[in-house]
Amino acid sequence: MYKKFHIKHSYSGIFSEQGGSIGAFQLAHDILAYNHEKGLKIFDKTDIKIVTYKQNGVSVLTEHGTTITGKKIIYCNGFESTEIIKNKFVKLLFTYAIVGERFEDEQSHLNGTLFWNTAEPYMYMRTTDDNRLLIGGEDEDFVNAEKRDSLLNDKSVKLTKYLKKILPDYNFRMDFVWAGTVGETKYGLPYICKHPNFKSAYFVLGFGGNGITFSVTRMELVSKMLKNKKHPLAEYFKFRM
Ligand SMILES: Cc1cc2nc3c(=O)[nH]c(=O)nc-3n(C[C@H](O)[C@H](O)[C@H](O)COP(=O)(O)OP(=O)(O)OC[C@H]3O[C@@H](n4cnc5c(N)ncnc54)[C@H](O)[C@@H]3O)c2cc1C
Repeated sequence: MYKKFHIKHSYSGIFSEQGGSIGAFQLAHDILAYNHEKGLKIFDKTDIKIVTYKQNGVSVLTEHGTTITGKKIIYCNGFESTEIIKNKFVKLLFTYAIVGERFEDEQSHLNGTLFWNTAEPYMYMRTTDDNRLLIGGEDEDFVNAEKRDSLLNDKSVKLTKYLKKILPDYNFRMDFVWAGTVGETKYGLPYICKHPNFKSAYFVLGFGGNGITFSVTRMELVSKMLKNKKHPLAEYFKFRM
C-alpha cells in the first residue's frame, strides 16, 4: 500500500476497479432538471406538515399552507422517517467528513482512488476533481442535531490526525468540515416497501450506507410497485422491525 499510494500504517487490502464516484449534488439537480422538462413539478424548500390518507389517494399540506393531492405518496424523507414511523427500524448515527485545501504538489498516485477501511466505524477517503482530499468517518450514536454539530471541531481534529498518520508525506490543510446523519439497518439494506399503517404510500429510504448504489434498484422497484407488478428483489427491502 505504501509503495503504490504512499499510505503508512496499513496492511494489505483488496484493490478493485469496481467503484466509482459522482457529484451527488450535481446528479440530483440533473435528474430533477431532466424530469422537470417532462412535466415534473418541484417544490423545493417546502416541508410537508400533514398527510391525509383518503380512500383513493393522499392529500398533503405543506408548511406554506398549500395542498398537494395525488393517488400515491412516496416517502423519501431519509432519517426523518423515524418521526412518522414509530417502530424501531433503523439505528441512526452521526458521521463526519473533512476536505482539505486544493493541493499543489504532485499527488497523482491518489488520482481516481476511493479508499474504505474495515474498521468499525469505517473510514473512507477520496480525492476530488479540483485536487482536494476528502476523508470521513468517526461515527457516533445519534442523539440530536445540536449534539452532532457540537462535535464538529473535535471530529475534524481526529480525522486530520488520522490522515496525517497514514499519509505523512501529504501536506493536508483542512478547508471544510461537515456532519451528517446516516442510518444502519439490520442487514445493511435500504427500505423500498409499503408499511401497513400508511395507505397509498411507499417508503424509499436509502439507509445502509450505500445510498447511490441502491438508487437504481429503488427506481426499478417503485416503478413496478406503482404498476402493481412484482419485483424479484422486493422481499429483501421490506421493513424488518
Ligand atoms: C457524510 C456522508 C457521506 C456519505 N457518503 C456516501 C457515499 O460515498 N456513497 C453513498 O452511496 N452514500 C453515501 N452516503 C449515504 C447517502 O447520502 C444516503 O444513503 C442517501 O442520501 C439516502 O438517500 P435518501 O433519499 O433515502 O434520503 P436523504 O438523502 O436523507 O433525503 C431525505 C430528504 O427528505 C427531506 N425531508 C425530510 N422530511 C421532510 C418533510 N417533512 N417535508 C419535506 N422534505 C422532507 C430532507 O430534507 C432530505 O432532503 C453518505 C452520507 C453522509 C451523511
